[in-house]
Amino acid sequence: MSRFWTARTAALTPYVPGEQPATTGLIKLNTNEHPMPPSQVAIDAMAAISGDALRRYPDPTSRKLRLAIADSENLELEQVFVGNGSDEVLATVFMALLAEGPALTVPDITYSFYPVWAKLYQVALRTIPLKDDFTLDVEALCKAPGPVLIANPNAPTGIALSRDEIRRILESDRDRLLIVDEAYFGFGAETAAPLIDDYDNLLITRTLSKSHALAGLRLGYALGNATLIEGLVRVKDSFNSYPVDVIAERVAEVAVGDRAWLQEAGSKVAAWRDELRAGLEALGFEVLASRANFVFARHPQYEGRVLFDALRAKNIIVRRWDKPRLTQWLRITVGTPDQNQALLDALRQQCPE
Ligand code: PMP
Repeated sequence: MSRFWTARTAALTPYVPGEQPATTGLIKLNTNEHPMPPSQVAIDAMAAISGDALRRYPDPTSRKLRLAIADSENLELEQVFVGNGSDEVLATVFMALLAEGPALTVPDITYSFYPVWAKLYQVALRTIPLKDDFTLDVEALCKAPGPVLIANPNAPTGIALSRDEIRRILESDRDRLLIVDEAYFGFGAETAAPLIDDYDNLLITRTLSKSHALAGLRLGYALGNATLIEGLVRVKDSFNSYPVDVIAERVAEVAVGDRAWLQEAGSKVAAWRDELRAGLEALGFEVLASRANFVFARHPQYEGRVLFDALRAKNIIVRRWDKPRLTQWLRITVGTPDQNQALLDALRQQCPE
């Protein structure tokens, strides 16, 4: 605490991301990074960036990258916004479309950064409890009196809504903004992107951190009606002209263009996820039906904290929360088949059948 802090700074409760340990040799299944290396053509594109390119500022509009994203989604350039990771894109959405506006509705269990931005940008929050089976309450979302923000698939459950369910929420009030955070796109969930041309109340955010194995690059984007995107650009240009650097723009452009990589890597991770789920169920775990690159699981006889500590002692890190309804649960990122096996072996010792 400093006497120079503003009252708002003092009142913040910052988001705490999953641990990024400096030690090597850990099996790191705590922050939903992709288990495979990124597309080789993207790595080659990075190596080919010249000193001269780095000497200059990047294109403030990231036109080439936005064109590549627009092309991959059958959208226009003006329907794409890019930023330094989807956390930054979401923060821009809060600043441009939500700040000081009517209360924002979010599920009670979802990405825990949403309440942090709500506080920073002075947006009141209304929460809708997930149903007993951890699915979203679509009926209740359809009755929300103001803007709605959901993650699809949801975090940390991994459960996804179908495109038709998203359409129902959009249809229930075309004057209500629906923001769909598709951070976990690419692992089997349906995307709402084909609805963008029909609904100007839909904004989608995505990231290359999970689907494209590029968490270290920091590249996120938003898809939506051109006027919504223009609002984001106005705020971006009042905050930071160059959120996407020369390296990120080029590598992301090539990575987005390598659709075969996305298809193949996404289906591999989805298959490994389903094997991991089956392995956990064989050990007595309850595992939610995930469409993301992680699973959410609990053992009816062991507290999450006990399992978390036992795994940590074996150099395996996963994620857990001390929150109502979540204390028994572990969120486990899908690793390589070897890593998943090591996790299952460690849990088998801890939870004998
Ligand atoms: N949304 C959700 C639901 C997430 O889990 C994450 C990753 N923590 C993000 C957005 C942000 O991802 P990034 O900033 O790496 O794009």
